[in-house]
Amino acid sequence: MKTHLENNCAVDIVPIEETVQTVMEEKIKLHEMEDKEEAFMLGDLGDVINKYKRWVKKLPRVEPFYAVKCNNEHAVLKVLSDLGCSFDCASKSELQMVMNLGVEPCRIIYANPCKQRSYIRYAAKHHVSLMTFDNEEELHKIKDIYYGARLVLRIRPPNDFKILCELGIKFGCHKTKVRPLLETARRLGLNVVGVSFHVGSGCLEASAFAAAIQQARQVFDIGLDLGFDMNLLDIGGGFPGQVSPPISFNEIAEVVNEALDLYFPSDDRIRIIAEPGRYMVASAFTLVANIIAKRYVARDQRGENGEPVSSLSASDEPAIMYYINDGVYGSFNCLLFDHAHDHVTAYIPREPENELTYECSLWGPTCDGIDCINEKTQLPELKVGDWLYFLDMGAYTTVAASAFNGMTQPVRYYFCSADVWLEIYPKEKREETKKIKQRPLHLTSGRIFQETAVTHEKIPDVSSTSKDSKLGTVFTVFRSAWNRIWNQI
Ligand SMILES: *Cc1c(COP(=O)(O)O)cnc(C)c1O
Repeated sequence: MKTHLENNCAVDIVPIEETVQTVMEEKIKLHEMEDKEEAFMLGDLGDVINKYKRWVKKLPRVEPFYAVKCNNEHAVLKVLSDLGCSFDCASKSELQMVMNLGVEPCRIIYANPCKQRSYIRYAAKHHVSLMTFDNEEELHKIKDIYYGARLVLRIRPPNDFKILCELGIKFGCHKTKVRPLLETARRLGLNVVGVSFHVGSGCLEASAFAAAIQQARQVFDIGLDLGFDMNLLDIGGGFPGQVSPPISFNEIAEVVNEALDLYFPSDDRIRIIAEPGRYMVASAFTLVANIIAKRYVARDQRGENGEPVSSLSASDEPAIMYYINDGVYGSFNCLLFDHAHDHVTAYIPREPENELTYECSLWGPTCDGIDCINEKTQLPELKVGDWLYFLDMGAYTTVAASAFNGMTQPVRYYFCSADVWLEIYPKEKREETKKIKQRPLHLTSGRIFQETAVTHEKIPDVSSTSKDSKLGTVFTVFRSAWNRIWNQI
């Protein structure tokens, strides 16, 4: 069954027994039938939904505000918004994106301590009043532009913990500067309501959260002492999101709950929020790329400049260079920018003909030598046209992909297990039982028809609160015209 989120974003609703692997195999078959070698990103929306549900269960006191910068795909934002999740935005266009889904301004935190003036004006105009700051200049800007804003002081948490991406060097007020900064806010008559921190992305030690929560308590008390109505604690992001993270979410959740109960006991009427990014999306996306070229080189020899050499002597063992159609300028930009992705493993979707593996390197499609995805890995011998897949590709990947060398982004496919989907969108249960009419013969072939044929099933409206986008409107008009023609046949 196929359904649509608004914006004509198709989602395959699959039987419970289907897995990423089986759905991927189907898509690969489709691509091969149509002679399409394009890389594709397979998004499991059920995984996002389950992550959200797990969060609510394991961190019942902490409201998640999903960090949009991590993955801003419409389908992700839409599903999270329908689940009741709130959002962390850092720019005008992220604010727009989220508000276009119909999310109320009170479900948004503008969590960028250094904001462009025009963006603050935009937030003011749309009543997004909750925002962070960590420096004095920001207070003056906010006083001028949005006097009524509810301000959250971002502090720099203790940094003696293992973290993959340090954020402390760029943001956060040092603890020695907290009091003078809050005094300035007081003098300007501003409304400080809380404290936030970010332990760093890809946190490897749960105790980093405990230490940061303890420090936040001290800052809270300074705020109370200065007469602010402190009522919000924001524990930021940093929660792991991979299929098998080095430290489990449950472990972190336990430490967080304990620290919250100790420093912010629940009878305090204090609202606690967090800004998870990679937690919600990392494991939900699998990238499937095609091998577009390959070359044999000597394994143990290098040329003058360290380059691989291709003249093999009889005694040399070969190594294989595979070139695939997504790379470091595309989804794998995470290898450069997101230190949590210092290594990627390639998997093969199909059983190899031969068990033997070879030393291989994986390269992206651009003409730049930096475009190397993996310098050294073991893979069986594969053909040009074969596929490789990569897990945990949902966080900080396509959001930062470039079009360098004219390379395009991977096609997106979304799917969701029927049981998970129906729990969130139960309305569709009724739709499912409707029989599809037999299609007229002259329309049964061709891709365009395939696409339209599924859309003539009545598309359930899962977006009652949000406005149709332009594209959505065109699509709706097209759909009703099609339905009219259909009924006449
Ligand atoms: C990036 C960011 C996040 C999300 O971080 P993750 O490590 O992906 O959870 C949350 N809050 C702020 C302010 C950020 O900049």
